[in-house]
Amino acid sequence: MTILTELDHAPFRDRFVIADPQVVYLDGNSLGRLPKATVARLQNVVADEWGQALIGSWNQAWLPIARRVGDKIGSLIGAAPGETLVCDSTSINLYKTAWALLQHRGKRRTIVTDAANFPTDLYVLDGLRQPVDPAMRVQPLMLDHADHTQVQTVLEQALNADTALVCLSHVHYKTGYAFDLPQVTALAHAHGAPILWDLSHSVGAVPLDVGTPRVDAAVGCTYKYLNGGPGAPAFLMVRSDWIERLQNPIPGWFGAARPFEFGSAYEPHPGIERFAVGTPPILSLAAVEPGVDLTCEAGMHALRQRGWQLMQFFFELFDQRLQKLGFALVTPRHPQAAGSHVSLSHPAAWQITQDLVQRHRVIPDFRGPDIIRFGITPLYTLGREIEQAVAALESSVTRGTYQSFPEQRQGVT
Ligand SMILES: *Cc1c(COP(=O)(O)O)cnc(C)c1O
Repeated sequence: MTILTELDHAPFRDRFVIADPQVVYLDGNSLGRLPKATVARLQNVVADEWGQALIGSWNQAWLPIARRVGDKIGSLIGAAPGETLVCDSTSINLYKTAWALLQHRGKRRTIVTDAANFPTDLYVLDGLRQPVDPAMRVQPLMLDHADHTQVQTVLEQALNADTALVCLSHVHYKTGYAFDLPQVTALAHAHGAPILWDLSHSVGAVPLDVGTPRVDAAVGCTYKYLNGGPGAPAFLMVRSDWIERLQNPIPGWFGAARPFEFGSAYEPHPGIERFAVGTPPILSLAAVEPGVDLTCEAGMHALRQRGWQLMQFFFELFDQRLQKLGFALVTPRHPQAAGSHVSLSHPAAWQITQDLVQRHRVIPDFRGPDIIRFGITPLYTLGREIEQAVAALESSVTRGTYQSFPEQRQGVT
């Protein structure tokens, strides 16, 4: 029991709203919990900054947020100050940064990605061909996330002098596999190609260093492990020596050098701000900061250490209690090759997920066709919650209670 006691000690859990302690929330990788400080911050933004100070708040309070929070997120991923900005959604930031890097493709015509990449990433890359160069092609690689060597070999064989861009999600949303970021970055560079990483499932989950070797660009979500709130704006990171050479495909006034001079000719901002487009959604943007502050305060190395202990605890319980019930572990067991969620496959995954949510009050999520995903969020997940999730899985299958739920899929998660 000592291990459980230690894993039940989550020093930052008290800093979050836990509305119902009976609910085991293991979906913080889709929507992080609400930090208590965010409630106070939003109260302040709405009542004081908007309600009282009105337009005066732009200069005083609102204009600096995107860069300030960008730099804080930058510190979590190893970027230098001035390389990271909070704006738009991950999809839009992916489009902007990929488009910008592709302007420098020369005669290169292939975008290399993972065939199993998050759908929006695949759609965006495919959608870039028409506006950039219809002769370009997207090469989606068949990568076996259970076999790190296969992944490396296929990537090595795919990259060549025609590679215009490599675009991958560092931690895969479904399998939990983590690419070797430094190695794949170096591989892209060895072939003269820039790399664009999607860090949506990495930031706040695992320590990152986009500085060695220097990643060209990155994007990611703030509403997952950073607890920024539903639909919170995303971030983008561009390596400093690229910034002045890259254009924003949407030259909006917030990306201009002097937006409030209202000049008729667009002149891009010299800094990372050039990747902004229009007026930021201040309420959502302000809500990103408290969650980022908590992550910075906890420190990524300490968080990962705690997170990995929780992951290992899950793996041990899987070996003891779940393997024999038809579950398979999809997530790699090596800390260098995994993010911070555990994915299990099972033929009845959809029904079991429903049973967990409705009968056991354990909230994982389902990713088709057969994966149940458990987000391990080191700021607030407890060892006992993992034990409860495993007990619920065990009970659902051994008693067959999942069979009372329809096989047909419905709903969002
Ligand atoms: C969650 C996620 C997104 C979401 O993109 P939005 O534009 O914020 O909806 C994109 N990419 C990956 C890899 C994700 O995990």
